[in-house]
Amino acid sequence: MADAVKLTFLGGLGDIGRNCAVLETGGRMVILDCGQMFADETQPGVDSIIPDFSFIAENADRIEACVVTHVHEDHIGGLPYLFDMVPALDGIDIYGSAFTLSLVRHKLAEKNLQRRANFVPVVDHEKRRIGPFDCEFLPVTHSTPMGLISAFTTPQGIILHSSDFKLDHTPVDGRTTDLARIGALSQDPGIRLLLADSTNADSPGMSSSEMEVGGVLRQVFDEHRDQRIIIGAFASHIHRVQQIADAALEQGRTIVTLGRSMKRNVALARDHGLLHIPDSRIVDIDAADDLDPLKTCIISTGSQGEHRSALTLMATGDSRWVTIGPTDTVVFSSHPIPGNEAAVARVRSGLARQGATIVHSGQVDVHTTGHGKRQELLALHSVAHPELFIPVHGEFEHLIAHAELAYDRGMSHDNVLVATDGDQILLDDEGVTKVGRVSGAYVFMDGSAGPLDGGVLDERLRLGQGGFVSVSAEVDVGAGQVAFGPVVASRGWAAGDERFDLETGAATEAREAMEKALANGADLADVERAARRAVGGYVNKVTGRRPVIVPVIRASRR
Ligand SMILES: [Zn+2]
Ligand SMILES: [Zn+2]
Repeated sequence: MADAVKLTFLGGLGDIGRNCAVLETGGRMVILDCGQMFADETQPGVDSIIPDFSFIAENADRIEACVVTHVHEDHIGGLPYLFDMVPALDGIDIYGSAFTLSLVRHKLAEKNLQRRANFVPVVDHEKRRIGPFDCEFLPVTHSTPMGLISAFTTPQGIILHSSDFKLDHTPVDGRTTDLARIGALSQDPGIRLLLADSTNADSPGMSSSEMEVGGVLRQVFDEHRDQRIIIGAFASHIHRVQQIADAALEQGRTIVTLGRSMKRNVALARDHGLLHIPDSRIVDIDAADDLDPLKTCIISTGSQGEHRSALTLMATGDSRWVTIGPTDTVVFSSHPIPGNEAAVARVRSGLARQGATIVHSGQVDVHTTGHGKRQELLALHSVAHPELFIPVHGEFEHLIAHAELAYDRGMSHDNVLVATDGDQILLDDEGVTKVGRVSGAYVFMDGSAGPLDGGVLDERLRLGQGGFVSVSAEVDVGAGQVAFGPVVASRGWAAGDERFDLETGAATEAREAMEKALANGADLADVERAARRAVGGYVNKVTGRRPVIVPVIRASRR
């Protein structure tokens, strides 16, 4: 009986974001991706949502390496937090393509953590001994360059991880997903377990080629020849940037980068020979003053309507660089990620109000997905012909759709396992079985303060919805008297005269309740409870709202 392999999924199974798994055999472990997820409006003040790293921290001395598949935040964005929170990982090897690692290094350097890891760049088709596994890296097409499929040779056969995956026969860099090699592995020695991207498992058909987007972009440039063109795109989508640049350069425009991550990624991609724009034809926005605006193409971050991003600031007239007017065409070269639709719509409408012409992916195909749809996934399954399958990378319904696709291909229910964050799966001679659970919880990070308690988030939401009311007083418990106050103060609850009236009314009610409690022999804690209840009841009666109520009741010194 060969040694078993254990897979622990810490994120990415049930949500799109914060992908992270740990592969283990004979007590030796390798981390596969470490991503983050961004907060929505129900998580105010949260900078990042990361996996719970407790399992990694508890096993830090057994972790030998980390493999990163590509540069997207949902695959590498958790690494600075990981190295910060688990110092015992000091000195581990991180494997990935040179481009991916250059970005990881950059992100770690922002927190001065770059010396914690040892970067080991690998090239397409390279084989490496990584911890207890032999790993072969294969090229994969996606919406960012130099992504890698990993094929881990384990005591239980090959585990093939698709990475974020699509099939594009005409990718901008000519680097196609290596189905041929997957086919060869499937023949000899066979693929035991497939872990594959489920993002578009419920979308029929095939995704269109990135090259087709290039054609559409050229057309858009033609139609708006006499305008300044501003294009919002993902900073990591280097091939999109290339196609935008090609269309712009053809019209004699100069490329202007706007946004910190756009400037950085463009520079890194040019350093790595992945983006071809002549030096004389590209500047950053801070050097674009002397250029004729109609002879420029601004490539900007913020196509997802992110708060304070470059496009958002343009839409509200707050950009220090760009003032929008009727000579501007703004192209959104991306789809809104689910959850961002409203923010994107606000930005578009703000830009339109200032006179810009808007072009977006709902009108013409200025975007294509980086994730394979059903026909592409079917092709992967057919070629890989795995004995076992676990869908990864998707909302729960995507994982289910992907499992059903595998059943449709004829895989038996015993050989397909749908797991979620926190599940531990054992791969042994018998197949795959769920054997345990670790925490798959969201960890909310708030820039300065570190992990946030879920209770704090609830408070922030209530503060946002109902505001804040404090009630302070001094109480002489011995004498059974309110010695000072109560004084009620509020924020985000009411304004002007109304606020004064409400605060005074609440204070009167609080005083009555406190006096009554004191008359009944209450202690300080009882008085505090009485004050809170009285103010809460009053506020709710008068305004129907539920602000956060903070009583500060002190014992009087007399
Ligand atoms: Zn990706
Ligand atoms: Zn991803």
